[in-house]
Amino acid sequence: MKDAEYALRKEIVATCIAMDRSGINQGTSGNISVRWEDGLLITPSGLAYETMAPEDIIFLSMDGTPHGPHKPSSEWRFHRDILKARTDFNAVVHAHPNHSTAIAITGQGIPAVHYMIAATGGPTIRCAPYATFGTDELSKNALAALEGRLACLLANHGAIACGPNLRKAFWLMSEIEVLARQYILARQAGEPVVLDDAEIARVVEKFKSYGPKAKASEA
Ligand code: 13P
Ligand code: ZN
Repeated sequence: MKDAEYALRKEIVATCIAMDRSGINQGTSGNISVRWEDGLLITPSGLAYETMAPEDIIFLSMDGTPHGPHKPSSEWRFHRDILKARTDFNAVVHAHPNHSTAIAITGQGIPAVHYMIAATGGPTIRCAPYATFGTDELSKNALAALEGRLACLLANHGAIACGPNLRKAFWLMSEIEVLARQYILARQAGEPVVLDDAEIARVVEKFKSYGPKAKASEA
């Protein structure tokens, strides 16, 4: 196995453990994939993250054929379909974070109640209609909800966050959960004020030059 592949497998295992430790996930819920060569590396189904080793990660061809010692995640369809359709993504993180899932249980998405929603690519985090876990239908619903976005909720299930690499996809999942918690708290405090689409479009642009490398004139 190439060093680069082994390093990615290690990063997937470390991110699974981080996902559980941070409270974003519980038990064997959730799954992770990263684009690798002409397919993807994906977590095995139902294997406890604490005992997972880099060798337990499955390589999945784009035609859905698994290569490895276990069954691939039951959600391999949406991981494969997202990475196939969205060449802007190299990593997909799925979890059942409490606050995001609570909103998804109501069938609603998250509106632009905080400017940080721009990190998900637009003014709303959509909620994909419910479909049984692991099905083609769930994959289709998720892909539609991700149109022009990096994240979505899954009704009565959880959330998906994507990114150009695993570090960013995991960060985005944490960010969605923060937004979901803030939205729920705001609704308890009063009537949330929703930012308009033009403002979120401005923030999406501003984020392109945000961070340590940005020039002061652009920040
Ligand atoms: P897997 O253990 O098969 O990845 O399933 C967990 C899950 O979250 C299903 O939606
Ligand atoms: Zn799930």
